[in-house]
Amino acid sequence: MPQSAEEIFELARLEPRGEDDLGFRSWPAFPWVAGEGEVLPRPLDPPVATDRVRDGEGGRPCFRCTHPDEGVVWRDDRWLLASSCEGRGGLLSFWLQTREHMDFGEMTEELAGELGRLVLRCHNAMLALPNAGRVHIGKWGDGSAHLHVLLMVRPERLAQVIGSFAVEWDDLLPVIPIEVWEAEVAQVAAAMAAGGDGEVLVPS
Ligand SMILES: [Zn+2]
Repeated sequence: MPQSAEEIFELARLEPRGEDDLGFRSWPAFPWVAGEGEVLPRPLDPPVATDRVRDGEGGRPCFRCTHPDEGVVWRDDRWLLASSCEGRGGLLSFWLQTREHMDFGEMTEELAGELGRLVLRCHNAMLALPNAGRVHIGKWGDGSAHLHVLLMVRPERLAQVIGSFAVEWDDLLPVIPIEVWEAEVAQVAAAMAAGGDGEVLVPS
């Protein structure tokens, strides 16, 4: 059983982690260096009364349900694959989502089986792109209550852009040129539709 927020907050207050615990700041993959001031861990705020309410729950609108086609590059009857044209980062990434609004834990086992096959197909399509080094897969879900899985490909041979730090590097690296983004998205979408599965769309 996880510790409660109060237990974690109290431990953090009484026993803040020391310099020996913060060695990761010297790792080459750690994307931040001190400027004029020192980079320090932010103190933990006290627990709040209730957990955050996400988009798509508690009466808040769901982006995907109100924008069912936005950024969608492939879809079938139950699933869609989307990539952002406007909010592009330095690494190509996709969101794999159900078309129907549901939280991750609400999938049937049949849907979960489909998710596994689609993640594999998308993973392998991204890994087949030129210069691809590794594909990372993430399931968070603190922003939207609509099921979504992140797939992100990092380039090979940039030794710092690895692991979970690649997510932060995505915001620091130059934005992918639009013509490169369009070509890579088209290649992945075509792979998703291989064998007549679903349809490829031009992202809006
Ligand atoms: Zn939704």
